Amino acid sequence: MVKSKKNEVLLDNLQGLLKEFSNLASEPFYKSLDAIIYCIKSGEGISKGATKFTWGKATAKNIATKHLNERFIELVNIYHVYCIDSKDLMYSAVGKVQLPSEVLIHNSKVEEWILIVSEITRYFRNTSNNKAYHDLELMRLVILVLNSHLFKKEVKSCPACYRVIRNRVYCWEHSSKLPSFHRSIKLKEILRNEQQSVRFLKDREIRNILGEYPSGNKLQFIQIIMCETWDVASAAIAQLVNEYLPSLQKLFSEKLELECIAIKGNDLTKNFDNLVDFIEWTYSSRILDNRFESSRSVFWFVNTLFVADGYFKAETQLADNVDKRFKDTNSRDEEIIRLKRSGFSIRKIEKQVDVNRAQIHNILNKWNITG
Ligand SMILES: [Zn+2]
Repeated sequence: MVKSKKNEVLLDNLQGLLKEFSNLASEPFYKSLDAIIYCIKSGEGISKGATKFTWGKATAKNIATKHLNERFIELVNIYHVYCIDSKDLMYSAVGKVQLPSEVLIHNSKVEEWILIVSEITRYFRNTSNNKAYHDLELMRLVILVLNSHLFKKEVKSCPACYRVIRNRVYCWEHSSKLPSFHRSIKLKEILRNEQQSVRFLKDREIRNILGEYPSGNKLQFIQIIMCETWDVASAAIAQLVNEYLPSLQKLFSEKLELECIAIKGNDLTKNFDNLVDFIEWTYSSRILDNRFESSRSVFWFVNTLFVADGYFKAETQLADNVDKRFKDTNSRDEEIIRLKRSGFSIRKIEKQVDVNRAQIHNILNKWNITG
């Protein structure tokens, strides 16, 4: 048994995927993935020299050739036949699609490969070829997990905001060298108390385990945005922003110079050619300035939107609190006394002046007002 912490994470990821697809994938393909897990567990082909128990490209290539390529070729061939029959234009792109074993060891090729495989997956889904659909989906996720393990990709984000970071603890905006650092700590506290934000921040923490393109998401929106055409996806994004992300709704409609604050699907299709275009614009320095975010994953994009919205809301809330703190306390006290004298209950005063009950009691005691 190979004992290595790195392999444990890899095994966790793969076993998690297998569990998720246990009744969905075809039996032979499922078995070949079981074989991959066995290879890793038994340390087969893993170098035990200077770089102890680490996975090399050669091992990865061998494993993929042995256990993934065959089913992949089979599925791509089904798709080819369909393309030739229907004279589909995707054929020229798919004709050159690379084998899992090739893609796995070339980091730069993964992104394009994923796009092509998603296209083929969509064909199987639309034709209700469920075994093929799930096998290919699982294949894509396995490649992503193996690839990020091989190239040690780790995604970290700033704990105070929505930005992806490289080597620091906080992003450039929230680094401790800046005077605004303590402000951002307060923002972080507000963000961590917001229930919705907590959920999405938690997701972000397990991003490496979920992989770049986790399936089975809770949000229906993610499914639609990920799988439908840009026309349909843009309408779903508009609805998502209008219903759940008020701060971003304001920001987007300002930046896109829209006439009304509510965003419409065709506001997006007019300004952006496709989903990736829109995602890139949102991450750009003009909007969220999430400059180290290299993933174009819909799941993490939507996740970022929620965290960013919570962050902007927290910023407004903090600004309000600061305003209150610097308000002239004498005039605040006078107002409370005036209300008390005109017969307002503490509960009503609380609502009027936005000071909590205990504080109101303290203020009244201070001025010797009894009720
Ligand atoms: Zn930050």
